Amino acid sequence: MTQMPRLNLKLCPECGAGLAAGAPVCWLCRRDLADSSEVVMAELVPDSKRVDALEIVLAISTLVIVVLMVLVGIGCFVSAPGLGVAYALFAAPPLIITLLRTQRQQAATGKVSWADRLLTLVLSTALSAGVAMLLAVAAFIAFFVWCWYMILSGG
Ligand SMILES: [Zn+2]
Repeated sequence: MTQMPRLNLKLCPECGAGLAAGAPVCWLCRRDLADSSEVVMAELVPDSKRVDALEIVLAISTLVIVVLMVLVGIGCFVSAPGLGVAYALFAAPPLIITLLRTQRQQAATGKVSWADRLLTLVLSTALSAGVAMLLAVAAFIAFFVWCWYMILSGG
């Protein structure tokens, strides 16, 4: 957690003007500030734009990953159509999951952060890779068992 520089500012309870510490009266509306219990302490976060910068970085990261996944798919199709189909089966589900989840969240909350999109994309891609690996292992085991069956039965 990064420490945000915070500015504690006294506000006039009457007009909301920012006040210097220890001022006896408001410079704007001349309200007597002797009763300090009424003085509101406000927190200003002047560098809230840093969040926007992070969002931009996350948005670019998400788009770069999507573009790379699509480019690799096109490369696979061009070099070997069969490999391209296998890649599409692996890459399409995470892209679709991310798109659908983003749309559903957009409809529910009205706003989806890019951090959320990127996390969904990375997790669903990892899930897809895991499923693809399990399928590959299952296919290998099936092939192995089939070979042994042929050897044992055929003699
Ligand atoms: Zn005032």
